[in-house]
This record gives sequence, C-alpha cells and structure tokens, in this order.
Amino acid sequence: MKKIFTNDKISQLFNIINSAKRIAIISHTNPDGDAIGSSLALYRALLKIENNTQKDIRIIVPNSMPDYLEFLDTQKAVTTFAYNEKECGAFLAASDLIFVVDFNNTTRLEKMSEALERNICATRVLVDHHIDPPKFDLEFHSTQSSSAGFLAYLLIKELGITIDTTIATPLYTAMMTDTGGFMFGNLNTELYTAVSELAATGIDIASINREVFNNQTLNKVKLTGYLLSDKLTVNLPKKSAYITLSLEEKDKFEYKIGDTEGVVNIPLTVQGVVFSALLIENKDHIKLSLRSIGELDVNIICNEHFNGGGHKNAAGGKFYGTMTECENAIKSIIDRF
Ligand code: 5GP
Ligand code: MN
Repeated sequence: MKKIFTNDKISQLFNIINSAKRIAIISHTNPDGDAIGSSLALYRALLKIENNTQKDIRIIVPNSMPDYLEFLDTQKAVTTFAYNEKECGAFLAASDLIFVVDFNNTTRLEKMSEALERNICATRVLVDHHIDPPKFDLEFHSTQSSSAGFLAYLLIKELGITIDTTIATPLYTAMMTDTGGFMFGNLNTELYTAVSELAATGIDIASINREVFNNQTLNKVKLTGYLLSDKLTVNLPKKSAYITLSLEEKDKFEYKIGDTEGVVNIPLTVQGVVFSALLIENKDHIKLSLRSIGELDVNIICNEHFNGGGHKNAAGGKFYGTMTECENAIKSIIDRF
C-alpha cells in the first residue's frame, strides 16, 4: 500500500507519545462507529507500546455512545464527559498529548470544548477525514479517507504496532460503519486491502456486522417504521425527501441517542431521490442530518444555512428556531434545486 504519512511525521509522533504521561483520545458529540472504533483502536494500540501501560491514557467523548457500539468497549475504556464533567475536565486540562479523532472543529464537542480550552500545553494530534481542519501540531488527515478508522489503521501500522483482534475489531467497525457497510464513500483498493488485513487477524466479521446492524431495540425499529410511513415527505420532481421528528414523538417512542442512526439514508433508496434530510427537534434547536448522492454538496448547505458542515455527501448542523421554521427552510432549499 502506498505510504501517505512520511517517516518524519511518524517518528515525530513516536517521540511525542514516548514523552507524554497523560494522553487523552477525544472524539465528537453523538459518537458513531468511526468515532468509537478509531478511538478504541488507538487506545489499545498505544497500550502496546513499551512502558505505556504506566501512563494515564483515556478516551473521552462528550456524550454517551449508542447501545449498538457497547460491544466494542469490552474494558469500559470510554469515559463520557457529560456524566463526569469535573474529572474529565481536569484530565483534559492536564493532558500533555491529545488525539483529536474523527472531527476537527471544537464546535462538535459542545460543552466539552470549554474543558479543552483550559489546556494550553498539550500537543494536539489530528486523526481525521473531515474537510478544512484548522492547524494542529501534527496532522494525520485526508479527506480522501472514507473513515478516520482507515487513517488510524495506517498510523498504527506505521508505528510498528501489531494489529491483533482487539485492535482489528474496532478498526473494522469504524471502516464499515462510515461507509454504510461499504456502500458509499471512498471505496478504493487500499480500503479493501486494509479490510483484508483486518480479516486475516481472525476477527469475526459476520458477528460484528450483526452487532452493528441486527441489534436494534424494538422501539428503534418501530420508530423507523413510523417515520417512513407517517413523517416522510418526498418531492420527486426535485429528487428530494425529508423526515421530521418532534419532541413529542421522541417521548412516545422512548427515543434514545442512536435511535435515528441510519434513518436519513433510507429515503435515498427511493428511485430517483438524491437528497435526504432528517430534522430532529431538541429542547433548544433542531438537529439536521443531510445526505446526498453525486454532485449535490450538502456540506455547503449545512455551512450556509445550518451552522454546521461535514462532507460533500453527508453533513449535519443545527437550526435555532421552531420545527415549522426549519421545515420551511428545508422546503425552500429543495425548491431551489
Ligand atoms: P450525522 O448526520 O450523521 O449527524 O453527521 C454526518 C456528518 O456530518 C458527520 O460525519 C459530521 O462530519 C457532520 N456533522 C454532523 N453534525 C454536524 C455539526 O453540527 N457541525 C458540523 N460542523 N458537522 C456536523
Ligand atoms: Mn468519520
């Protein structure tokens, strides 16, 4: 596989890791398979470096991970900032090395960003595939990568760490989830070569796929059915669709974080539909998820209208206003296609 990180960069990282004592691995709010998978793989890889078991290494995410990812965290290594603000905040402020995984903009940390700002001395290392990152001390970044997991995989290999099943399982999960089960994204030969190497470690791919996809609560399946039958608006001439979910409906279906995971992709399975939006009402804002197929750039839409961003074909943001106002905003965007 061709090298995308220089030897110089890798040896810089090696030195930084060696001299660090408190290492934080952080990822974004509503952590997904890529966020949790990449973080756990890095964490386990770091612990394999000589003498690192004596260091304090922690994974910290702003809020809890969805249930379907719990199987990855066998040692309960992931700590949730929202449940333990004081301790997590103190650790972040005193870390001397911080890995920023699967995001590059502190707005994606919500309240956790304040804790990060209190740290003025850590070396910050980026492992990410989102566009337009600000400057980091060391960057392992490529928008050509279909997941942060793929970059973490390259990094771990370049550091000379053997990838065993405990590292391969979260890496595979990261690569698999961020490509929607290898359905979209940058599906290049390098990715499949990586997957082949992960498979060769002996991980049970069918079982991981089942954990992620066939492990949904009845509430989640029913909510999905309801959203598709009652809440889906399709505008075929404009090749667009959107779904709304109100606070009231969230209560009714005992909504939990992760329950709408993947829902925004379903309208794209309708013949001719190339734009899909999911609008979820929260207490003080509407959270939007946008998806597209082909040239339509939803990152630009989220940037311009919804205080957010992401990738060309998958982006998100927030709207501060009522659901009706947000729906009108989406409708007028669709009308202009
Ligand atoms: P999702 O729709 O699954 O929440 O997010 C899809 C992608 O959009 C994420 O991988 C992330 O890149 C981006 N994204 C989601 N929400 C936000 C947001 O609030 N701000 C920014 N900048 N990006 C977001
Ligand atoms: Mn990702």
